[in-house]
Amino acid sequence: MMQVRHDVPDICLRKFSLTGPYGILIKYPWRSAWRASLHTVEKYAQERVAPLVSEMDENSSMADEVIKSLFELGLMGIEISTEYGGTGSSFFSSVLVIEELAKVDPSVAVLCDIQNTLINTLMSNLGTEEQKAKYLPRLATDMIGSFCLSEAGSGSDAFAMKTKAEKHKDYYIINGSKMWISSAEHAGVFLVLANADVSAGYRGITCFIVDRDTEGLEIGKKENKLGLRASSTCAVNFDNVKVHEKNILGKVGQGYKYAIGMLNGGRIGIAAQMLGLAQGCFDHAVPYTRQRMQFGKRIFDFQGLQHQIAYVATQLEAARLLTYNAARLKEAGRPFVKEACMSKYFAAEVATLTTSKCIEWMGGVGFTKDYPIEKYYRDCKIGTIYEGTSNIQLSTVAKLLDQEYNS
Ligand SMILES: Cc1cc2nc3c(=O)[nH]c(=O)nc-3n(C[C@H](O)[C@H](O)[C@H](O)COP(=O)(O)OP(=O)(O)OC[C@H]3O[C@@H](n4cnc5c(N)ncnc54)[C@H](O)[C@@H]3O)c2cc1C
Repeated sequence: MMQVRHDVPDICLRKFSLTGPYGILIKYPWRSAWRASLHTVEKYAQERVAPLVSEMDENSSMADEVIKSLFELGLMGIEISTEYGGTGSSFFSSVLVIEELAKVDPSVAVLCDIQNTLINTLMSNLGTEEQKAKYLPRLATDMIGSFCLSEAGSGSDAFAMKTKAEKHKDYYIINGSKMWISSAEHAGVFLVLANADVSAGYRGITCFIVDRDTEGLEIGKKENKLGLRASSTCAVNFDNVKVHEKNILGKVGQGYKYAIGMLNGGRIGIAAQMLGLAQGCFDHAVPYTRQRMQFGKRIFDFQGLQHQIAYVATQLEAARLLTYNAARLKEAGRPFVKEACMSKYFAAEVATLTTSKCIEWMGGVGFTKDYPIEKYYRDCKIGTIYEGTSNIQLSTVAKLLDQEYNS
């Protein structure tokens, strides 16, 4: 597949670093070296992931060798400090890696995205020394984490959750059921939002670290999905699950704040996933239009196609700049929530447009499974749904605009 390189502002590159192929930490302070490291991810995705994509989609399962190699390359612990065996790199690096992986397989990208932008960040920012020493080295090297917020009755209205955590002496008993939990099939640890004080409403919501082998935790039905099929999405049930209070992440009753905070950053990761997906699809379709002959010409030479391709390329560039800008703002510690919502909303729209257009540009073959375009088309739909639907992103943008014009 043809891959086009995209420039990112120098300011975004300074802190980029990744582990090399043998797990050795390499710091890349210079632009050329950044290119080399990102090239490692691109090469990895092309050589080791691409051959498995179709089969993983067909079988609805993530290959063990993909999971293993993501850890080996240091891509599951990008921001985890080197002290805990992570790569010690930046949020922006995670965004670039997610984009690069999504060009080849958005399911692999979301595995990497959730681990880096939600699980590792929550654990690094909120964990006690004991929790960090126990979990971060595993999260960096061999343990997948899942984030359990949504329930059957609480999706967009996430804090209307029914899962409860009842306090007894120095432990809690969790009862309830979570839905749509990504990577649950392979996860070794679950960050579970449960209400520890129903009388306080959403201010009772608390985040618990629950190990997979805890008695009463059961992985439920795996969804049979339209797209993102290699990423497992399961119900996770809690039947009298006993969790010691030392497994509370952060403070009791602060879970809603942590979830909001993490998802704000996570949305930039999903924007990067949608951006990579759209670029990957575009990179397959454009070379085809430059080879396919009709009426004695390359179909690319018809102005009707050229204008559409140029339009989509412009939308892609705009999505990239929105995404990188949101990541840059977050990394600089500046307000970024509005930009994060805009980037996720817009990148999902662009992915929908791009994948649909690419099928049209390729005609009948674009509609078959002989080419990967139809898979990108199916995979992109999730971008308008998870980590806040498009409506929810727009509502947040509107709320923040309202506040801006108030002041
Ligand atoms: C593949 C997949 C993976 C997922 N992974 C995870 C995970 O790892 N962890 C996790 O906790 N959750 C996960 N989710 C859940 C996901 O975050 C929710 O599906 C999402 O938040 C939407 O909730 P819902 O499905 O209940 O839709 P609903 O909230 O019922 O929304 C349905 C429609 O109503 C609209 N709507 C709802 N409220 C409003 C409003 N106030 N204003 C305007 N429109 C509104 C929505 O925009 C949408 O169009 C995943 C979901 C999927 C499909």
